[in-house]
Amino acid sequence: MEVFSRTITTKYYTKMKTSTNSISSNENKDQAFCQTSVMRWFTLTQLEDLENEIWVDMIGFDGIYEVSNLGRIKSLLRYVRIRNGGQRLSKENIRKQAILPDGRLSCTISYDGKLTTVNVSAIIYFSFNPKQFYPNSKFCVMHKNKIASDNRLENLILEKVSNSHKLNFAKQLLPHLAENNRKKQEQNALRTHKTCRKCNVEKPVDDFHKSDGYKCKICSALYKKELYLKKRVSQTSA
Ligand SMILES: [Zn+2]
Repeated sequence: MEVFSRTITTKYYTKMKTSTNSISSNENKDQAFCQTSVMRWFTLTQLEDLENEIWVDMIGFDGIYEVSNLGRIKSLLRYVRIRNGGQRLSKENIRKQAILPDGRLSCTISYDGKLTTVNVSAIIYFSFNPKQFYPNSKFCVMHKNKIASDNRLENLILEKVSNSHKLNFAKQLLPHLAENNRKKQEQNALRTHKTCRKCNVEKPVDDFHKSDGYKCKICSALYKKELYLKKRVSQTSA
């Protein structure tokens, strides 16, 4: 059996050299897709292919695992090591996937007697797009329809994390964030004193400008003076 040196972690993809990625935004394409049927697909452990299901080697695990365009993971028929140093035949089977607290799916796979967990959406996207990599750590594999368990290949796209957050916000998927912000604003409005981040002294809120909530009026004035002098110096030297 071929020994593979690649480990399947997010860092691995991040470290790889930049490749060109076209980022389209057809997120709304799958709006009509029924969530319950998505939930059903990854729980189906039947070996028979589902309708229109296509299988490819799981990246980094060629000949050991396969992933499908519908989000399933298959363990292939192979010999596996056992404790006493021998080996046994492992039958072909569909791997069970676990739902994480945030709704994404993870799957535990084993190779050479070691267990590892893979992020199913990323592993499916990169297995079908082996020449693509994370250009940098600011990218993620995003679910276009924002259903985190919908790992159909057509629902996955390499996208900037910031754009993913924007979409979450637009779709109001994180109502707790808005609620937290509202609470924070309420708390801030009730304050009588706050600490200046420049001089680190606690002062009444009246000693702060409304526009600059971080520095007290004295520090703010000093800062403006410094800025003015710097400008003058650079102008005279130029
Ligand atoms: Zn101050």
